[in-house]
Amino acid sequence: MSLATVETLEVMIGQPELQARIEALAHEIHDQYAGEELLLVGVLKGSFLFLADLCRHLGPNVTVDFVQVSSYGDRKESSGVVQIRKDLDINIEDRHVLLVEDIVDTGLTLQHLRELLAVRRPKSLRVVSLLSKPDARLHHTQIEWVGFEIENEFVVGYGLDYAERYRNLPFIAKLHQAE
Ligand code: 5GP
Repeated sequence: MSLATVETLEVMIGQPELQARIEALAHEIHDQYAGEELLLVGVLKGSFLFLADLCRHLGPNVTVDFVQVSSYGDRKESSGVVQIRKDLDINIEDRHVLLVEDIVDTGLTLQHLRELLAVRRPKSLRVVSLLSKPDARLHHTQIEWVGFEIENEFVVGYGLDYAERYRNLPFIAKLHQAE
């Protein structure tokens, strides 16, 4: 007989706190670029809600593109291998590029993406990540703006999944599993 796994969610960052922080980040980003054209590059799929909310506070000089890489599959641990699944549509040469990440964990994905985009000679390349787990870092890489630093725990919601579920939650939650 197989036992079902019971998953429970514990809210870690509620919707009002998330939205207030995103608005504050957008103001800092807006000031940094001071009216210059900015290309937001969302890292799929996890950043889709963050990017959507962030860009609504950034005014008119913004374009959007997406890149997708994979390293986790359906598991909670990284495989250590980063593969490009979907490349950018837009040529980033001589453009201000802001990479929009959902979460930086070991830093492997971000390190890889920074290297990949830097060789395409953007005018500038910066990173905003909604979440960061500093205690999990194995690959040190620069992040210009971080929404929230969190403990080294697996979280879901607001774009982040477990086996493709929970992305649509409007808050960030810890995922607990019991048999
Ligand atoms: P890294 O390469 O920094 O180890 O991992 C980055 C990617 O792993 C994130 O973009 C995200 O897709 C996934 N990831 C890392 N930590 C978590 C987590 O706590 N929850 C979820 N759902 N995904 C995570």
